[in-house]
Amino acid sequence: MRQIRLIYFSRATRDMTLADLKSILEIARDNNTGLGICGMLCYENRYFLQALEGERSKVNELYLDIIDDPRHDEAIIVSYEEIQTSMFEDWTMGYAASSAQFASMLQELKQQEFEPADMSHEQALSFLQEMAKHQTKV
Ligand code: FAD
Repeated sequence: MRQIRLIYFSRATRDMTLADLKSILEIARDNNTGLGICGMLCYENRYFLQALEGERSKVNELYLDIIDDPRHDEAIIVSYEEIQTSMFEDWTMGYAASSAQFASMLQELKQQEFEPADMSHEQALSFLQEMAKHQTKV
């Protein structure tokens, strides 16, 4: 079975509260366990940046469900690639919000605010990887 990693960003349709994020993550973690999908989600400045890894057909199907979710829109795929090794296998869905590490990663990318639209695929991936090491507990 072919494994892929899909990275996309999207715009929240309203400011997300901690309770909103908790509800997204609880369902995501529960569903992803059953689907054998793992990944990482970042939220800040009304942007979501998410990596999804797993079996190709499962990731494709889940992505179509996710982009139908009215809590966000304007989704743009940053990358879609076949992978040999998972980078996020330890997390059914990791999560990171604003923090000192978040700010320092943005500074490295010369961003004042979290703007995934200005990130290349490599930058988005290394941002997600770095933030996976500095997660926000939700
Ligand atoms: P239901 O809960 O019955 O949802 C039915 C519909 O209502 C769906 O369109 C759903 O998107 C929408 N919905 C559900 N709750 C709310 C709410 N509180 N407010 C408004 N609309 C709502 N799910 C995963 O399984 N894995 C993920 O990795 C994942 N990542 C996500 C990332 C983001 C940025 C967002 C916004 C959502 C994510 N979700 C994820 C949630 C996903 O979009 C679906 O809500 C979830 O899969 C359950 O959908 P469902 O149709 O099975 O169930």
